[in-house]
Amino acid sequence: MNTNKTVLITGGSRGIGKAMVYAFAKAGYNVMLNFNRSESSANEIAKEFENVKIYGANVADQQSVINMVNYTYEVFGNIDILINNAGISYTGLLQDMSIDEWNNLMSVNLTGPYNLCKAVLPRMIANKSGKIINISSVWGITGASCEAAYSASKAGVIGLTKALAKEVGPSNIKVNCIAPGIVMTDMISDYSMEELNAITDEIPLGKIGSTEDIAKTALFLASDDADYITGQVISPNGGWVI
Ligand code: NAP
Repeated sequence: MNTNKTVLITGGSRGIGKAMVYAFAKAGYNVMLNFNRSESSANEIAKEFENVKIYGANVADQQSVINMVNYTYEVFGNIDILINNAGISYTGLLQDMSIDEWNNLMSVNLTGPYNLCKAVLPRMIANKSGKIINISSVWGITGASCEAAYSASKAGVIGLTKALAKEVGPSNIKVNCIAPGIVMTDMISDYSMEELNAITDEIPLGKIGSTEDIAKTALFLASDDADYITGQVISPNGGWVI
C-alpha cells in the first residue's frame, strides 16, 4: 500500500505503539512517533524509515501536545489519523493508591487523549476528514481487581470514543476504540510465568496477543475499508472477553 496520509502515534517508542509505527511506516504512511522517556528507542526506529519522524512530549502536558501537533503540520502538512496509544498502568489495591498516583494515571491515560483530540480536531473539522483511534483495554470493558484506576481510565477512553464519534461524525471524522486483551509488552512484565500461563488457559485461541495483532487492527481502522465504522470498540483478545 502507498498512501500520502499522516498518522500521529502517541507512545510509539515501545510495545504496541512501536509495532504500530512499523506497520504504518511499512504501509507507506508518514508517521509522527511520539515518545516520552525512550528517546534512544525512538531514534533507532526513525533511522530505519525516511517517513518516520519523532517528537518528545508528555501527552499529559497540554502545551507540549499543541507544540507536537503544530510540528507535525510543519513536517508533514496534515494529520489524517491520530492514535491515542500512550498509557501507563498501576497494580495494587485502590485503598493503597495515593491521590498523586491516581491523578498521574488519569492525566496520561485519559487527559492525554483529551489533549490530543482537542489539538487535532480544529483542522480535521475544517478538512471534513480524519480518524481517531483510541487504545483502551479489556479492563475498560470488564474491570480488573487491583487495577481499578486503570480500568476506570480505560472505561473513560471508551466513553470518550462513543461521545466524540457522535459529536464529530457530522464532520466526517471517525472515532473508534481498540480494547486489546493481554499483549506481550513491558506493561505486563511484572506478571509471573504462572499468571501468564493461567491467563493463556482462559483464552480460547490459546495464546497471548502480539503487538502486531493490535497494529493490524489499527491499520484496518485507519484504512478506507473502515470508512463506515465509527463509535465502535473492537477488542482483539483471542476470545478472552466476548
Ligand atoms: P508499554 O510497552 O509500557 O509502552 C507504553 C508506551 O507509552 C511507551 O512508548 C511510552 O513512552 C508511552 N508513554 C507512557 N507515558 C507517556 C506519556 N506521559 N507521554 C507520552 N508517552 C507515554 O505499554 P503497551 O503495552 O505497549 O501499551 C500501549 C497501550 O496499550 C496503553 O494504552 C495500554 O494501556 C494499552 N493496553 C496494553 C495491554 C497489554 O497487555 N500490554 C492490554 C490492553 C491495553 P516512553 O517509553 O517514551 O516514555
